[in-house]
Amino acid sequence: MKPAADIHTEIALIGGGHAHVEVLRSFSMAPVPGVRLTMIARDVLTPYSGMLPGYLAGIYDHAEAHVDLRPLAARAGARLIHATATGLDPQARTITFPDRPALRFDLASLDIGSTPAATAIAGAANAIPVKPVDGFLARWQSVEEEALSATGPFRVVVIGGGAGGVEVCLGLFHRLQRRLSDAGGDPRRLAFALVTDSSQLLPRHGAGVRARMTAAFTRAGVALHIGHRVSEITHEAVRCEDGLTLPAEASVLVTSAGAAPWLADTGLALDEDGFVRVDACLRSLSHPHVLAAGDIAAFAPRPLTKNGVYAVRQGPRLADNLRRMAQGQTPKPFRPQRQTLALITTGERHAIASRGPLTLEGDWVWRWKDTIDRRWMAKYQDLPAMPEMAETPMRCGGCGAKVPALVLRRALARLDLPPPREDVVIGLGGADDAAVLRPPPGKLLVQTVDHFPAFLDDPYLFGRIAAVHALSDLHAMGAQPAAAMALAGLLVGRPEQAEDDLVQMLSGALACFAQEGCDLVGGHTSEAERMSLGFAVTGWADPAVLLRKSGLHPGDRLILTKPLGTGTLFAGDMRGMARGDAIEAALAGMTRSNGPASRILINHGATAMTDVTGFGLAGHLMEMLSASQVAARIDAAGLPAYPQARELLAAGIASTLHPGNLLALEGAIDTTTADPLLFDPQTAGGLLAGLPPDRAQSCLVALHAAGEGAATIVGTVEDAGQAALRLA
Ligand SMILES: Cc1cc2nc3c(=O)[nH]c(=O)nc-3n(C[C@H](O)[C@H](O)[C@H](O)COP(=O)(O)OP(=O)(O)OC[C@H]3O[C@@H](n4cnc5c(N)ncnc54)[C@H](O)[C@@H]3O)c2cc1C
Repeated sequence: MKPAADIHTEIALIGGGHAHVEVLRSFSMAPVPGVRLTMIARDVLTPYSGMLPGYLAGIYDHAEAHVDLRPLAARAGARLIHATATGLDPQARTITFPDRPALRFDLASLDIGSTPAATAIAGAANAIPVKPVDGFLARWQSVEEEALSATGPFRVVVIGGGAGGVEVCLGLFHRLQRRLSDAGGDPRRLAFALVTDSSQLLPRHGAGVRARMTAAFTRAGVALHIGHRVSEITHEAVRCEDGLTLPAEASVLVTSAGAAPWLADTGLALDEDGFVRVDACLRSLSHPHVLAAGDIAAFAPRPLTKNGVYAVRQGPRLADNLRRMAQGQTPKPFRPQRQTLALITTGERHAIASRGPLTLEGDWVWRWKDTIDRRWMAKYQDLPAMPEMAETPMRCGGCGAKVPALVLRRALARLDLPPPREDVVIGLGGADDAAVLRPPPGKLLVQTVDHFPAFLDDPYLFGRIAAVHALSDLHAMGAQPAAAMALAGLLVGRPEQAEDDLVQMLSGALACFAQEGCDLVGGHTSEAERMSLGFAVTGWADPAVLLRKSGLHPGDRLILTKPLGTGTLFAGDMRGMARGDAIEAALAGMTRSNGPASRILINHGATAMTDVTGFGLAGHLMEMLSASQVAARIDAAGLPAYPQARELLAAGIASTLHPGNLLALEGAIDTTTADPLLFDPQTAGGLLAGLPPDRAQSCLVALHAAGEGAATIVGTVEDAGQAALRLA
């Protein structure tokens, strides 16, 4: 996380393609003071093209074939925004999204790859496009299940005869054949075919490669249909313009690369296929402060084949040019090779090498390719340890540290605020000194406050989590959230940067407040060395429903609604040790409001409730036990945990609050042998509630149905005994 206040250049990297992973690596090795990178990525785990065919064929597993952007971004001090960009305004220098506020940039770079272009084919939606790869594999799984349960022939048609098409076709064929054999089926039921409108297979390669690949198809028994233009795809067949009809239970599109349609609205100069035209220095021909690399770039000096090799080669040049441009220096031209070496796999551990007229083939070619690919991946996977973060002293404040009024006014004007509710007499719309609320008759007013420094570089997500966390105390007491006051700490820096961060954070919070019917009615902002956010929240509670920690009865089952482990995961994230998928799972949990779970627990007769936050499960449970004067037995082995949380704790990675949590429970529980997950501090953690034993199971079913899939009965309340907390 970049703590510095003096950011003068914001560089937005859109897409985690091959060139951009190199930009991250390069900036991690040599950061530029005053430059902040923001990586916007649809997929935090981004596939490496060299290993893609082997991954589809089942030779490599997911982790081997994907670069995890999160640890890479952490080392580069880059913000990682897990989102899909759907627009770019080069004039206003903003990137837009369907579900969150726009981001501002000084320099932007596009490396978003391509997807199969199929607009001319009727019924193209009936085929599975090979990209995005994860989406493809999810759909391909169900094709495989269908093939395994089918009794008759099972036919697959792959559309596209370039290197990608042949590799996908043979890879999927061998993969499915293997699965059928393993399941005791007859692999001869499989009939694969490849169809292409080109007059020859692999049109960009030499005759020798074509001959060898054709022989590989013959050996595998996969039919080739060359020179047939596909015009229609149905659930039963692939039809060609010339009348050729290929019956197919499944079809796969690996047609030539197409560009993201949203680029057409950006005003950037595009080529006739919609790709961004760039000069030799990889700058847009129309807007030089926007750069592009990889498949999405149309290199104006001469056409380049859309393959991972060029995307990889452009990485170091792109990184250097971004660095130069950020420092006001002249960028340098990218000089592509005349001929690239292509190593094309034939589905199993066998490959064909092609460079100009030269061609070689064998298992050894595959091993050679494997070595090259693993070496490339190692650069982005085997990362050096992150330097210990120096403690940044807190800046002094006072009212002089308030964010300028203009920044605040402009930020508030950009927020998408709902119309104020009736019980909000004076809210954000008024110029008064305080908000005024009218409590509904017969209700109790419930108040709480939470505030913490940013632990995430994405201000929108951070804002959303801060809101979930703050409302959670109201939900734990069975109160209906009504109003929130924001307390925001913004980086000292350019006013527009502070404005953007505030808009992002509050927009994230508003997304949560909107779900819970809570109004943002005011707040206070101040400058800070580190971004922070919190909310003072107010809710209304029915006196008959108000839940306390003191209501537990012996026999009650204890339900925990969310997994544990956010403390260790974000401690691991700061050290660049947490996996991208694990952080994504935790963020999905942390952005989920506890409101629905609270209502379900109350409807099932919850006797007492709390939210699990900083003191960890054990600490918050102890508070309930002592307030209720009871004891509890916890099934430690059954505690729900986010992916990688136990692994990180076992490696000694813990939040700075963890030792304090252990200390607080010394004497109450043997902290040396207990599961460390019990003491892991949670941000936006789940609810812990006591349920009458006869209603706990149905409550669990309802929680699972409402999306709290990890909700678990973690223990039972017992009569007060010698030990308040026992582990089963
Ligand atoms: C089956 C198959 C096999 C292939 N095999 C090879 C091979 O062996 N060797 C080779 O050199 N090439 C191969 N290619 C081609 C290769 O995959 C591409 O040329 C290469 O991936 C392009 O790299 P890139 O950096 O341009 O983009 P990509 O690698 O496609 O990366 C783009 C990234 O941008 C992200 N993204 C996309 N849109 C957005 C958005 N709107 N907002 C945010 N993020 C976004 C995506 O999540 C993705 O991570 C193959 C292609 C296919 C389909």
